[in-house]
Amino acid sequence: ARQRGRNHIEYFTDTLRAEAVDTKRMADDVLRGLERREFIPVYQLQFDARTLEVTGAEALVRWQHPRQGLLTPFRFLEVAEMLNVMGDLDAMVLEQALADFRGWAAQGLRVPRISVNVSAQRLGDDMLAERISRLDFEPGTLAFELVETISFDDASQQIADNIQRIRALGIDIEIDDFGTGYASILSLLNLSPRFLKIDKDLVLPVVGSARSRKLVSSVVEIGRALGIGVIAEGVESARHAEILRDLGCQILQGYALARPMPAEDLPAFIRARAWQ
Ligand code: C2E
Ligand code: CA
Ligand code: CA
Ligand code: CA
Repeated sequence: ARQRGRNHIEYFTDTLRAEAVDTKRMADDVLRGLERREFIPVYQLQFDARTLEVTGAEALVRWQHPRQGLLTPFRFLEVAEMLNVMGDLDAMVLEQALADFRGWAAQGLRVPRISVNVSAQRLGDDMLAERISRLDFEPGTLAFELVETISFDDASQQIADNIQRIRALGIDIEIDDFGTGYASILSLLNLSPRFLKIDKDLVLPVVGSARSRKLVSSVVEIGRALGIGVIAEGVESARHAEILRDLGCQILQGYALARPMPAEDLPAFIRARAWQ
């Protein structure tokens, strides 16, 4: 048994060593990727729950890796966070998103709104509002999705100030992954977000579970009481869309309606839908 134990430990430390080497290699790779601006957004459209008209698009980062192709953020976001470069990555995605937005407009396509994800690292930057104010966007066309795990309650004054100033620039605040973290009702009052975005882990079971439907409907109620709209992500079937609409969600996002797609595919996708 002892022998097996030692083999196991050896195996275990080998694995750890391999992972450490791997992470180090990835860290170098992420830094190189940032320099070469290899991080780009893809877009997932959002729809009005009642009319199914396009209400906007969420920008989701992908890594256009020179050898591995287009990578989803499964591992590289963790590495970027560890390296303290999430703010740079978010900034790169936002700048590209605004450029894509202008590109669509130049083709005569008006996308009502773009949402970008904003990490805790970026929200803590004391220059954030200045940096954002230098960008070229129309008030009302941009939303920041803030994850609920950012501790808004013990919120540093810095974060509270930043949110205030961002809102003053005409940017909507949304609470992302609502229901998976610990945003309190008080933090909702303090942040006055325009939308709560219910996480797909809460949304996916609504088809089979009455309790999940009750949960979603109570989030909608809280939203109503505070004048905050509700977005549901993870809309994977027509049945999901129907149920979520009936429960009072205003905006829907999910594979059943549109997959994340590159900027250049978006105009054709929207035009094809308009003809249906
Ligand atoms: P999120 O903000 O909750 O984004 C939704 C995720 O769900 C996306 O994964 C999206 O592709 C996926 N999704 C969309 N529709 C469906 C559906 O119907 N069913 C299921 N099962 N999944 C669906 P993705 O693109 O892999 O992004 C993962 C997470 O990475 C995001 O979760 C967000 O937290 C983070 N992230 C993505 N882009 C950025 C970024 O630019 N900055 C920051 N800070 N975080 C980002
Ligand atoms: Ca999001
Ligand atoms: Ca998230
Ligand atoms: Ca989510």
